Amino acid sequence: MRPIKREFQLITQEFNLNRHKGVDLRCVDDNTFENLPVIMTERSQILRQGIDGYGNYYLVVKPLQNTYYKEIKYIHIDKTNFNIGDIIEKDDFISFCIIGGNSKILHLHFETWGKPVGMSVIIPENPVEYFNICGINNKIKDKS
Ligand SMILES: [Zn+2]
Repeated sequence: MRPIKREFQLITQEFNLNRHKGVDLRCVDDNTFENLPVIMTERSQILRQGIDGYGNYYLVVKPLQNTYYKEIKYIHIDKTNFNIGDIIEKDDFISFCIIGGNSKILHLHFETWGKPVGMSVIIPENPVEYFNICGINNKIKDKS
């Protein structure tokens, strides 16, 4: 059900450490083409939000359960009414995906940044690992 409110997360663009530091998730219903809500994957604290250099709205949160992960980023969403430091509960509504910046097709760009033992910096990791840890159903869109 998370981060897009649907049965499973449909990955339309996979993670690549050099070229794509997250996954793209389809955020419209396959039948009705309704824009589906973006919801919080777990209880999290708002770290920052704004508009990136490409003109995309983003929201960055700190997960409070899976604390290996230091930042989770939601990109291509409409701006929220959250304040820095707010605590948002699992499954709570965040926003809707929007077209804007360098996004031409409605989708959520979703990143998970972890901090491996012994490293002083956080690094982007494949969100599929996070989905699997959290029990979030996901599948990769058929390349046809
Ligand atoms: Zn993307």
